[in-house]
Formats: sequence, structure tokens, C-alpha cells
Amino acid sequence: EAKLQRMPKAKPLVGKVALVTGGAGGIGRAIVERQLQEGVCAVLLDIDVAALESTVAELSKKFGKDVVRGVVCDVTSEESVIAAYAQAAIEYGGVDILVSNAGIASAAPLEDTTLALWNRNQSILATGYFLVGREAFRLMKAQAVGGSMVFIASKNGMVASNQAVAYCAAKAAEIQLSRSFALEGAPLGIRCNVVNPDAVIRGSKIWTGTWSQERAAANKVSEEELEAFYRDRSMLKRSVFPEDIAEATYFLASELAAKSTGNILNVDAGNLAA
Ligand code: NAD
Repeated sequence: EAKLQRMPKAKPLVGKVALVTGGAGGIGRAIVERQLQEGVCAVLLDIDVAALESTVAELSKKFGKDVVRGVVCDVTSEESVIAAYAQAAIEYGGVDILVSNAGIASAAPLEDTTLALWNRNQSILATGYFLVGREAFRLMKAQAVGGSMVFIASKNGMVASNQAVAYCAAKAAEIQLSRSFALEGAPLGIRCNVVNPDAVIRGSKIWTGTWSQERAAANKVSEEELEAFYRDRSMLKRSVFPEDIAEATYFLASELAAKSTGNILNVDAGNLAA
């Protein structure tokens, strides 16, 4: 019996509501799918209207139209974020889980990092995570049943990479924010943890977009060679996929991680260890 008590419930998230920013992107969509598999209702927030519509349509077809909603939202706008939470409350009566994930990638050497590029990284990453996190906190406090937040930061919030000055600083801010959320949330049963991906290949717009093209061009290699580079330099010699981030996020969001807050789970094939 003692052993049974220690076993987590098979589906600890059934009936919960998750709000996922950047839900129409590569990692966000994988996170949403993993949660839908566990009986969660998901509200996807994204600024990309076309990607949001097609993602919600596909997921509705796969999991049922009652369990997934899309809300167009710009995480840099306080008004837009507040309206998105109000919409989530109308649709599903509240929010139990926040996954803050919406983001961008940019590559520029220090000297070419304009103030505009710096501000763009700060506003989407640091400010965006602050705004969606603060509204989740307010709502979860009012609901008075606790809650769980997962911030998708980056390996670059821990260590620097070449030509990513603005991104690295903003990702570090997200990680530090998560600790403040954990501290103030603890008495209310609100947990906040971080998942740090290393380069996540395939499935991600960042990877298939200009970031990897710029990186590949800067290193005079093809995108396939760039992928092989990330895989081969990793301790485990394995590539990290959106599904890997989704699994780690599911774990931290759920009661499986009931005793973890203010923590970081690096999904980096070992890269941060040595
Ligand atoms: P992605 O480009 O596929 O998805 C990001 C999503 O965020 C997009 O759908 C985009 O429309 C949305 N978004 C951008 N700005 C927004 C805004 N202002 N408001 C609302 N939505 C906005 O990228 P991804 O690889 O899925 O990245 C997800 C997260 O993971 C990001 O925070 C990124 O920094 C982080 N990350 C990615 C990698 C990687 O290699 N792909 C590595 C480490 C960390």
C-alpha cells in the first residue's frame, strides 16, 4: 500500500486547462499535443494568425474541437495578454498551467547588435514572459487552487553563444524571473520551473527560419551539416527534438513534479555539464 501511495496518478492532468504561448510554433505545438494526450484543454496564444488557425484546426481534428482554442495575442502588449486570459477564462473557466514559450531567435555579433535588436529580444522574451507570467499568477491566486508554470528558456540563459548577445541576456532574465515567481507562488501552491532546450532541430520555425540559415551561412556549412554539428558536439551524440521539450514540460507542469519549484531542467543532450 505504501508503494501504491507513492505512485503518481496515471493521468494527473485530466481536466486541467493549459495556456501555451507560441503554441503555433514548433516547440509550442509539441507541448500542446503532449498535454492534449493527457486530457488537458489547451489555449494556444500566438501572434502568427495563419499558423494559429491551421494549428488549431489540425489539433481539433485530432483531439476534438472542444479541447483546443486559439487566441491571437502579442505577448509584448499588456492589453493583448490581459484580453487573452479573459478569453481563456470565458472558454474554460480558468487556467491551471501556463507554458511561456513564445520567442524569436536572432544572430548578430556584439558590435552589430543595434538597440532595436536588443529591445526586440527584451520585449518578446523578458517582458513577454513577465506579462504572461504575472497574469497567470493573478488568475491562479484568484482561483485559489494552485497552479504550475513552465518557462521555456534556453541553454543560452545559462551560457553564452557567439553572436547572440541580446538573446542570451533576455533568456537569462527569463530564468531569473522564474525564481521570483517560484518564491512568491510557493505559499499559494503555484510552482514555476524552467526547461532549457539546447538547439532544437526540425519542426521549429526558428530552426527552419532565418536563424539556422544565418548560422549555417556564417559557418559556411549547409543546414544539414549544422544539425550534424549540434548532434556531434553533444555529450549524448543525440539531437534534441520538440517532443523532448514537450515531455520535460509535461513532467514539470504535472503533479509528477509536485515538489519541484524554482528549478531548471536542461534538455541539452548533456551539453551544459561539461
Ligand atoms: P518557433 O519560431 O517555431 O515558435 C515560436 C512561436 O512564438 C511562433 O509561432 C511565433 O509566431 C510566436 N511568437 C513570436 N513572437 C510572438 C509574440 N510577440 N507574441 C506571441 N507569439 C509570438 O520557435 P521554437 O523553436 O518553437 O521556440 C520556442 C521557444 O523555445 C522560444 O522561446 C525559443 O527561444 C526557445 N528555444 C528554442 C530553441 C531552438 O533551437 N529552436 C533553442 C532554445 C530555446
